[in-house]
Amino acid sequence: YCHETKTFHSLRPPVPLPPVSLPLSFTAYAFSLLPSPLPSHPALIDASTAVSLSYPDLVSKVHSLASSLHSHLGISKGHVAFILCPSSLEIPILYLALLSIGAVVTPANPVATPSELSRLIDLVDPAFFFTTSSSSSKLPRRVTPVLIDSPLFRSFLESGSPSPDPIEICQSDPAAIQFSSGTTGRIKAAALPHRSFIAMTAGFFALRPSEMETTLLIAPMFHSLGFFFALKGMALGETTVVVGSAPLAKMMAVAEKYKATQMTAAPPLLVAMAQSKETVRFDLSALRRVFTGGAPLATEAAERFLARFPRVEILQGYGSTEAGGISRMIGQMECSCRRSVGRLTENVEAKIVDHVTGKVLSVGQQGELWVMGPATMLGYVGDPEANALAFDSEGWLKTGDLCYFDEDGFLFIVDRLKEMIKYKAYQVPPAELEHVLQSQPEIIDAAVVPYPHEEAGQIPMAFVVRQPGSNLTELDVMEFVAKQVAPYKKIRRVAFVKTIPKSAAGKILRRELVSHALCGSISR
Ligand code: AMP
Repeated sequence: YCHETKTFHSLRPPVPLPPVSLPLSFTAYAFSLLPSPLPSHPALIDASTAVSLSYPDLVSKVHSLASSLHSHLGISKGHVAFILCPSSLEIPILYLALLSIGAVVTPANPVATPSELSRLIDLVDPAFFFTTSSSSSKLPRRVTPVLIDSPLFRSFLESGSPSPDPIEICQSDPAAIQFSSGTTGRIKAAALPHRSFIAMTAGFFALRPSEMETTLLIAPMFHSLGFFFALKGMALGETTVVVGSAPLAKMMAVAEKYKATQMTAAPPLLVAMAQSKETVRFDLSALRRVFTGGAPLATEAAERFLARFPRVEILQGYGSTEAGGISRMIGQMECSCRRSVGRLTENVEAKIVDHVTGKVLSVGQQGELWVMGPATMLGYVGDPEANALAFDSEGWLKTGDLCYFDEDGFLFIVDRLKEMIKYKAYQVPPAELEHVLQSQPEIIDAAVVPYPHEEAGQIPMAFVVRQPGSNLTELDVMEFVAKQVAPYKKIRRVAFVKTIPKSAAGKILRRELVSHALCGSISR
């Protein structure tokens, strides 16, 4: 902690990054890290088809695809490419190809409903769409998507064309747009530069273990964590086994089959692995570490997991779509500090700010965490109002998380100040659900808040004011919403109330509702 500037610095040595002025796409950077000759183990394995791809094939397919997308479809620097695809072997190839020609990779959750998708599309105005034949019907009729399971796409991958003429890409150019509600309730489009993924990869590269790693990639590739892990695995020369959504036993069978040495697992999966009787059937002796994050991991859950898998390290990471990686644990010593989310990531600085008075706080004091570093977003696309709320005048990004640092530089998350609900580490923006609820003719007013849940972390709970005389039931409310939103956003608990508590400015007093929900003292 530096008293003069009141900032917290990473305790790790800074990781050298390429000079900012050097034009460099993430793809060029990733390929420059690979050894020569290229690794002989597979770059990618698709667990559902058992198809694998070698490193030489990966490099050649990325170049072929980039060249075809550029010359046949005219995709070039700055074009927004909207991607609606479940995780598969083709996705990292598509990401790397698009990044190499400067297109902005914009992945959406494949379980989103058509109306949710049209809102996202309106936010970013994509020039090109990529999807699969099974998801294409969800896109608006007016668009002509490229199907990644079509003969055309396969011919692009196999064309054998050399990489297209170099397109100058600056590290500050946008590389990806990821959807997030950030610190306010509505969904927004966060633009992240190539520099963000270069800096995060450099951190992992500098501290990479000496053994060859086989990573089970379970985190979905549209979400910030899965997106980054898909890219990072290619740059570090690992074997990435793409799993996607699958039942627990299937995931464990895949881990056994490919002798996975590490895996990504959101907290609910760690809980399931520790509790399920099925996990004992599988030989997971190769597994050395589990990367978790995206939502809080209860200490008891971590302990239960370690009792079942004593040789596995739980490496907790904390970050957000907007900030990239903020902190993570490295090695045995840090892992033993279980309530913490690790120490600040290399090259990241932070402040703890009293969210009421704006006063900058010091070690041990709780306040909102503000961060600055090479991985933070450029800003929300076309939303100056949201950007003014997200950043302060010096460029510090406000995380919306209530945190403190201890004397040894460990970061602790106490609570979430922002409105975001996290159901199994998936973001559920309450404002979106409130909008849906208010469209029900028998509902006068509604508010949605997080309600604690052992397995999912949090579930969305609705407080609903009915029209006088209405007989709407809790089930009616849940079904009404379920028909219009992706399954992970469903309302799973309802309370009928006389009024929704609001501030003088008309803002919903969510904390009041949460504490009412917990002590059950809301006026009905
Ligand atoms: P997302 O943008 O979906 O990655 O969500 C970011 C938010 O998830 C953070 O601001 C935190 O509120 C929460 N979060 C992420 N990682 C952790 C973690 N390891 N522990 C607790 N909360 C976390």
